[in-house]
Amino acid sequence: MSRIFNFCAGPATLPTAVLERAGGELADWHGTGMSIMEMSHRSKEFVGVAEKAEQDLRDLMGIPDNYKVLFMQGGASSQFTMIPMNLLRGGSKADYINTGQWSTKAIKEAKRFCEVNVAASTEGNNFTSAPSQAELNLSPDAAYVHYTPNETIGGVEFDYVPDTGDVPLVADYSSSILSEAIDVSKFGLIYAGAQKNIGPAGLCVVIVREDLLGNTIEGTPTMFDYKVAADNGSMYNTPPTYSWYLAGLVFEWLKEQGGVEAMAELNRRKAEKLYGFIDTNDFYANPVAKNNRSRMNVPFTLADAGLDKTFLAESEQAGLMNLAGHRSVGGMRASIYNAVPEDGVDALIAFMADFAKRHG
Ligand SMILES: *Cc1c(COP(=O)(O)O)cnc(C)c1O
Repeated sequence: MSRIFNFCAGPATLPTAVLERAGGELADWHGTGMSIMEMSHRSKEFVGVAEKAEQDLRDLMGIPDNYKVLFMQGGASSQFTMIPMNLLRGGSKADYINTGQWSTKAIKEAKRFCEVNVAASTEGNNFTSAPSQAELNLSPDAAYVHYTPNETIGGVEFDYVPDTGDVPLVADYSSSILSEAIDVSKFGLIYAGAQKNIGPAGLCVVIVREDLLGNTIEGTPTMFDYKVAADNGSMYNTPPTYSWYLAGLVFEWLKEQGGVEAMAELNRRKAEKLYGFIDTNDFYANPVAKNNRSRMNVPFTLADAGLDKTFLAESEQAGLMNLAGHRSVGGMRASIYNAVPEDGVDALIAFMADFAKRHG
């Protein structure tokens, strides 16, 4: 088997150990003679897998008992709709912090349901920073405050958790969940599409404080009601069983690695190495304010954009895949999630140094 280093923003690389284990039990899961994906979601085998995955996630993140963990479908993008439907709770206004393309999309959906107060926006500097707490223009009568802790496309990450007082804080953690320890009790709701730092696409994890459930806007479809999902153990209908199982394997792997604290240390080292190299080499640049540079997604440009295609072709030949920037911004982007090993970052830096020497 030969594995390349995969810097894709999502669906992203998974730990090789997890893929090997899944491969080993693909056709016959634990002597049942069946694949886990062929089993009833209500079988005791699958329910066991599902419950263990939830418990491991609770352990990893220290999720308090008054929070429900939901394994949902429709990606993070469906949450842009479900959040206002579930969390307005009779209110007519919500605060949104706009730090890039994902928050912009969340705002667009919320506007269908309520008045949106953009509490801060960094569009003016082309989304190359996050606002400080002092810059947040929060409304006292907002039903919730929504923000994106890590903007996957721009590579912008908050270096603090906004203080919203008694107003529930909602976070799109799709691209940085499990990358460091967070205090879940500061949030009303956390959601994350699985395909960056959790597992395969097809699953979206929602962690929501219980007291926020059960007051949806009129006309909310059954499948969009968090309380229905919570009351049915995320099995009101058939859940994405294989993605759920694989997420469970990733949670087990994370525990074996030492949990999110160990991941945070590794992620800090990887990011410091890569940004340190970019900052000291004239051939490469990253536009993001230093205290808001994402530890997960590292966009960078070459001194001569005419060399982009050559860079991508040569990096692929070197086994460094998916380094093209998002189609909307161009340039390069290296996503260095939990499952990207430090060796991968070292190999990328060595390649970048060599490329700059030959073409700079
Ligand atoms: C990838 C991503 C999304 C969209 O996820 P889908 O599962 O494709 O809907 C939303 N928000 C953030 C921050 C993301 O990184």
